[in-house]
Amino acid sequence: MRYATPRDPDAGRRTSNTIPAEAICVVGAGIAGLACARRLASRNAQVIVLDKGRCPGGRASTRGEGAQAYDHGAQYLTARDPRFLREVESWRRAGIAAEWSGRVGVLHGGVATSSEGSTRRFVGRPSMGAIARHLARGLDVRCSTRALAIEGEPGAWAVATEAGASLGPFAHVIVSAPPPQSADLLERAAPDIAAALRGVRARPCWALMVDFDGPLPLALDGAFVHDSHLAWIAREASKPDRAAGERWILHASPEWSAAHLELDAGWIARELLAALTDALACAVPSARQAVAHRWRFATPDPVLPNPHLLDEELGLGACGDALGGPRVEGAWLSGTSLAEALRVRA
Ligand SMILES: Cc1cc2nc3c(=O)[nH]c(=O)nc-3n(C[C@H](O)[C@H](O)[C@H](O)COP(=O)(O)OP(=O)(O)OC[C@H]3O[C@@H](n4cnc5c(N)ncnc54)[C@H](O)[C@@H]3O)c2cc1C
Repeated sequence: MRYATPRDPDAGRRTSNTIPAEAICVVGAGIAGLACARRLASRNAQVIVLDKGRCPGGRASTRGEGAQAYDHGAQYLTARDPRFLREVESWRRAGIAAEWSGRVGVLHGGVATSSEGSTRRFVGRPSMGAIARHLARGLDVRCSTRALAIEGEPGAWAVATEAGASLGPFAHVIVSAPPPQSADLLERAAPDIAAALRGVRARPCWALMVDFDGPLPLALDGAFVHDSHLAWIAREASKPDRAAGERWILHASPEWSAAHLELDAGWIARELLAALTDALACAVPSARQAVAHRWRFATPDPVLPNPHLLDEELGLGACGDALGGPRVEGAWLSGTSLAEALRVRA
């Protein structure tokens, strides 16, 4: 795998006078940025991908807490578009995705109801993060590299990084960060794209990763929670190839998350455990571990009508779930759509 790991001493510090002028820089190694980069690379474009995180995946990544792993962002993916269905099928064949046949339903006032439905849910194997790692394979992905600004001029863009490097020149720069962050990056170089992205609000989500010392009194593996501070709970071990145990993910509702966004993570953990007790209407086992994670930009609202934004003359564009739809599928479709729209002289 070619993406730079946190141990890579050069991560974020490489200068790039060797990058050819037809090169393309994709900012963001979430599903949209990686889908875009892969499609461009398949057309023989020279692509580098930058991500400020330690690993690729963005909101579809997996977090390790001590010895435990949690899918703390995207829980599963669904596939409706035939192009994405084909992609998911290829992931299944490659062994990095599988169908999740967990019992999913609704939890309301202590009553759990299983949902009969035809929704097929897929997850990464052995974690959601496996999908991004698969997409990153063979690409030049530079993690721990935060883009600070896009400088230069059409045909010769440079990306300034937090570590003080100036990468480029690039014929195209594609930004796939959540809308407020993408708008900041594109503000000076592509004000029209930035203005469109400024129309999208990002709704937050507090996520709690909990390891209970016994099973929850619930006959479901995943539940949409009604009339609660919680919106969703899921049992990690019910997904394929996960370690056994009573690790659960609790997602707070967007409204509750927004109202308590800046509060202490320890307080959030206690409140969400209390909300779970209320939702189940009975006591829950003790938590061996309870760690809260704040997603400031969890869900775009609204989603813009275009699948991507591109100014061909400038050579600048944006993709992501704010354009394709607020799911893994939407992110993948947006990145792919932008890559297909770019005229690349490879
Ligand atoms: C709590 C939660 C639950 C979810 N549940 C589901 C679900 O069950 N099913 C589903 O389909 N979807 C779900 N989603 C949505 C799904 O995760 C997203 O739609 C999808 O992952 C978005 O991908 P993306 O590439 O558009 O953006 P992101 O994943 O946000 O990727 C953007 C990347 O850009 C990087 N970045 C940002 N700024 C910079 C910078 N300046 N320099 C370098 N890198 C930068 C970030 O580190 C990030 O990796 C959920 C999301 C959250 C947060």
